[in-house]
Amino acid sequence: MRLRTTRDVLLGVLSRWERQYPRTRNGDYAWVGPTRAKLKALDFATCSKGDVDEIIGNTSWTENQCSECEKEVPAVVEIGWDEENECALARLCPACVRGALAVVSPEALRRARASRGGQPRP
Ligand SMILES: [Zn+2]
Repeated sequence: MRLRTTRDVLLGVLSRWERQYPRTRNGDYAWVGPTRAKLKALDFATCSKGDVDEIIGNTSWTENQCSECEKEVPAVVEIGWDEENECALARLCPACVRGALAVVSPEALRRARASRGGQPRP
C-alpha cells in the first residue's frame, strides 16, 4: 500500500507523456511536440492541476480518482499492483478506507457469524 496524492500524479505527467508519445524517427504528431515543450516548461512541484489540464486539453492525465466511489480526491491509498499495466489494483479515498474497515470490523464479523449460524463462509 502506498499514498498517491494529486501532486504525485502531477509529478509523473511528463514521464508518462514521454512514454505514451516517444519521439520517433519520422517526427511526432503535430500536437505532441508543442505539448511536450509546454509540459517541459512547467514546474511540476508548484504548478496546479489546471495548468496541466489546460496544456493537455483534458483532465485524464491529472485525475486522482477513488476506485470505489469514483470521486476525484486529493489523496488515495493504492492497493496491490498490476505488473502488466503498471498501476495499482485499487485506489481508495479516506472515506472508502473507513467504509472498508467497517465491512471487516469485529462487530460486522460477529453479525456475519450470527446470521450464518456460526458457520464459516463458503
Ligand atoms: Zn472513495
